[in-house]
Amino acid sequence: MMQSMLYISSPINALLEGLYRDDITIDTLKEKGNFGIGTFNNLDGEMIVLNGSFFQLDVDGNARPVEGDMKTPFATMCHFKPTLEEKITALLSYAAFGEYLKRLLPSDNMFYAIHMAGRFQTVKTRSVPRTENYQPLSEATEHQKIRHFQNVEGHLVGFYTPAFVPSVSVPGFHFHFIDKSFSAGGHLLSCEPEYLDIHLQIFFSMELTLPKTLDYLTASFVRDARKDLEKAER
Ligand SMILES: [Zn+2]
Repeated sequence: MMQSMLYISSPINALLEGLYRDDITIDTLKEKGNFGIGTFNNLDGEMIVLNGSFFQLDVDGNARPVEGDMKTPFATMCHFKPTLEEKITALLSYAAFGEYLKRLLPSDNMFYAIHMAGRFQTVKTRSVPRTENYQPLSEATEHQKIRHFQNVEGHLVGFYTPAFVPSVSVPGFHFHFIDKSFSAGGHLLSCEPEYLDIHLQIFFSMELTLPKTLDYLTASFVRDARKDLEKAER
């Protein structure tokens, strides 16, 4: 039996250097899985994919349907088949939640897909506005909009990436949130869960496609962009 593989549509360094357009369509992502997160060309909102349904969370955090011919400069996808199940049944601070998730991982050096569904006392998300090419991501996210949810039910969809591949994907945990009615959400900045059903899948391999755009082919990635990544994603 073939091991399931994590799919990453483009190295995140391309995004960090302001390359916000690629030719990977949502229809292509559908072949790569039914679960994932990412963004859209020109950073036009946050992407969340759950049970094969794709949502675009616009700059205000409102969910919109996604057309198959829309394109993405960065997305992570998988065919979600969780093997580990856990529950949170008491209120946790965001710091305690992070510690809890770290202890859940059998090893820090693997990739994981994580789905969590339940109730939160608070959730803080952000979404980015449509941005033109070549504006560095750390500048683009200065124009992000924050959204606060209180006493909300919903889903966290995301991944854990080991620390040694920061040029490929966001190291550590990276989650997008959508509420239970699939009407609003964004890139998770913090949350305080009260009750969560957690499902986790481990990956021993991943597929990375490299963009074929002229911008990518002629870009330089020699500078260390890790500080920008910290600023843009946390
Ligand atoms: Zn994100």
